[in-house]
Amino acid sequence: MPADPTLDLDLAAVLDESRRLAASIKPDSGPWDAIVVGSGAAGGMAAYQLAMAGIKVLVLEAGRMVDHRKEYRTMEWPYASPRRSRLPPDHRALAVAEYNFLDRPYGDNPAFAKYKKLASYAGNSFTRNWVVNEKEHPTTGTPYSWVRARVLGGKTNFWGRVAIRYGPLQFQAASRDGFDVDWPFGYEEVKPYYDKVDVLLGVSGTKEGLDQVPDGIYQRAHKLNCVEVHFKDAVEKMGRRFIPGRAGVTTDGVLGNKYRARCLGRGRCSRGCDIGATFHSPTALIFPARDSGKCTVRPYSVASEVFLDPETGRAAGVRVIDANTREVMDFKAKVVVLGAGCLDSTRILLNSKSARHPNGMGNSSGLLGNYLSEHHMGPRGSGFIATRIGTEPTLDDGRPTGPYIPRFRNVTDKHPDFIRGYHFQGGGGSNEFPSHAHDTPGFGKGFKSSVRKYYPALMSIGGFGEVLPRKENRVSLDAEVRDAWGIPALRFDYRFSDNEIKMAKDMADTAEEMLRAAGAENIKIDPTMLPPGWSIHEIGTARMGDDPKASVTDRFCRLHDVPNVYMADAAPFVSGGTQNTTWSILAMCWRTMDHLKEEMRTKA
Ligand SMILES: Cc1cc2nc3c(=O)[nH]c(=O)nc-3n(C[C@H](O)[C@H](O)[C@H](O)COP(=O)(O)OP(=O)(O)OC[C@H]3O[C@@H](n4cnc5c(N)ncnc54)[C@H](O)[C@@H]3O)c2cc1C
Ligand code: SF4
Repeated sequence: MPADPTLDLDLAAVLDESRRLAASIKPDSGPWDAIVVGSGAAGGMAAYQLAMAGIKVLVLEAGRMVDHRKEYRTMEWPYASPRRSRLPPDHRALAVAEYNFLDRPYGDNPAFAKYKKLASYAGNSFTRNWVVNEKEHPTTGTPYSWVRARVLGGKTNFWGRVAIRYGPLQFQAASRDGFDVDWPFGYEEVKPYYDKVDVLLGVSGTKEGLDQVPDGIYQRAHKLNCVEVHFKDAVEKMGRRFIPGRAGVTTDGVLGNKYRARCLGRGRCSRGCDIGATFHSPTALIFPARDSGKCTVRPYSVASEVFLDPETGRAAGVRVIDANTREVMDFKAKVVVLGAGCLDSTRILLNSKSARHPNGMGNSSGLLGNYLSEHHMGPRGSGFIATRIGTEPTLDDGRPTGPYIPRFRNVTDKHPDFIRGYHFQGGGGSNEFPSHAHDTPGFGKGFKSSVRKYYPALMSIGGFGEVLPRKENRVSLDAEVRDAWGIPALRFDYRFSDNEIKMAKDMADTAEEMLRAAGAENIKIDPTMLPPGWSIHEIGTARMGDDPKASVTDRFCRLHDVPNVYMADAAPFVSGGTQNTTWSILAMCWRTMDHLKEEMRTKA
């Protein structure tokens, strides 16, 4: 196979810039009012909110800066890469030999052999420079596919753009079915912040009036294509809904952000959108915050712990290990905001041990690290819609997201086998690469005409289900294994329960039911659950609540134990519904920052 020219991306300038910034920003370069750890959805929104309020903020980001113009390679043709963006074995985050001995989801454990395609997140030519190397970032315990991106913007550089609100069904889930506890407030409390996020960042979609996925303030939606319109007719006769996807993408433009332009419908958004139509934290939040003159970004800054002022018991700042020089530095500020992503923020707190907090900062309840939750995925179905077989192909891939089937279980009814519910994402039509070609038998001319015949007719859907927040699903610090910077690795103790397994079975059954109702041919159903972590929607390991004995943070995501430490990511979330997490992280973070701004204004 010829060399792949798409693998050679010249990053010299951005690496130079990152090293220069890290070398020039030292603990005495301040003073700063607030330190924000991380620069993804959470850290980006926290930094933006604080800087725009005139608060001097230092962002400590473990990875390097990002060159969005060069690294978001939206306009590259698939055939520019001989492997169509798949990596040669020696270019994966893990080398091929390591697959043979690592006993992780990535390793040669027969139970996980089919999931080696984790490389589709970690190892394609567009994301490989962002996703962490598992060798430097080990985990232990039960298998968990913890996808991490250590670079400015974190995972928002290549997120899937599905932008859905939590609603009353999620905030008051426990009151509806008696499992666990409700959030300490309802949807109405967060709704104004979802509205503000919609306006600031831009989201496309349609108003549907559904409680399970409340409407937002939408820009122009992307239309369903022919095969999807047919599928919608069939699904909606069953009393379910099939709606255009809600995408964290501006289709009409946003005001006052020179880094962003409206969507041109090119459909290769997962490589990063080089015109900034998709929400990415750098272009949408960090760069504007920096332009305000109030926000300093220090790359290569691995936060290892939050340290205390021994006299006041309040947090004094954040200890940093420079990712390149290994220099250890203490950066100080009045307030610390953790936005390193749910699990990394939890790890930092668990590692922040002192005489006052021997089990980690914020852990007087003993609950820090418990209640890890996310979504379970896997069951999926596909088929060819008969009326579209052999018809003229249409151009169907210029969309940033596909349609959505909102949750229909345990909304007005009560399912006999499980509580909570699931949604489907999916879609159909003639996309850039005909995915059914892999399963089409034959070769040569006959093979090509067969692929073309079925090309406009393919419809496929896959489910995302709620994982119940259970105390026994937890992370802790491993006593022996450390990462490349000497910080204890996270140990997972996480399993799906009977509720998830029964729900997954129902997902497969209803996928088949809907494809049959749409008159699909050659239906294929895969009921297999993907490994834990696959959803990349981790939440809950520093849950919020009003009772300090039963929660880690208060209702404003502030540690009960140390009142000047806030959490900006999904760690305080009580439960996650079926919805993708990012839009809720952004809304909740804005709400948390409003509380912090008010505290700083009135109590400074
Ligand atoms: C392929 C893919 C598809 C996705 N699709 C969707 C979707 O369609 N819809 C949706 O809602 N969500 C989706 N997600 C999830 C979404 O990306 C996350 O919800 C979101 O990015 C979380 O934001 P965050 O700020 O909490 O964490 P991140 O975006 O992970 O950012 C964390 C940041 O903290 C930094 N950091 C970590 N540890 C440290 C440390 N010790 N010191 C300093 N900095 C640190 C990291 O380098 C990173 O920059 C997807 C994710 C992936 C990978
Ligand atoms: S379809 Fe829109 S959001 Fe996606 S890459 Fe193109 S312009 Fe950006």
